[in-house]
Amino acid sequence: MNENYEKMKEKLLDRKRALEELIKGLSQEKVTDSEVQDPGDQAAAATSEDIIISLQANEYEELRMIDKALKAIEDGTYGACQDCGNPIAEKRLLLYPNATRCITCQELSEER
Ligand SMILES: [Zn+2]
Repeated sequence: MNENYEKMKEKLLDRKRALEELIKGLSQEKVTDSEVQDPGDQAAAATSEDIIISLQANEYEELRMIDKALKAIEDGTYGACQDCGNPIAEKRLLLYPNATRCITCQELSEER
C-alpha cells in the first residue's frame, strides 16, 4: 500500500473521531434545548434545534464520505476519480482526503 494512503487514513480517522464528538455534543445540546418551557424560549429553542439538525446533517454527510474513503482504502480503489477513473493527485488527496473526483472533474461538477 502507498505510504501516503496510510497518512490519509490517519487523517480520515482523526477527522472521523472529531466529527463523532461534534455530533455527540450537538445531540446533547438538543436535549437541553427541548427542556425549555417558556413560550418565548421555546421559539428560540426550535430555531436553534433546526440549526443543530442541519449542522448534524452536514456532519453526517461528511462522516459518510469519510467512511466511503476508508472503505476505498481497504479495497484498494482509493484515489481513483469516480467520474473519469484517473488517479486523483496525491497533493489533492492530502488536502481533501475524502475527495472522490480529480480536480478536473470536480471543477466540471461545480460548473453544472
Ligand atoms: Zn476525473
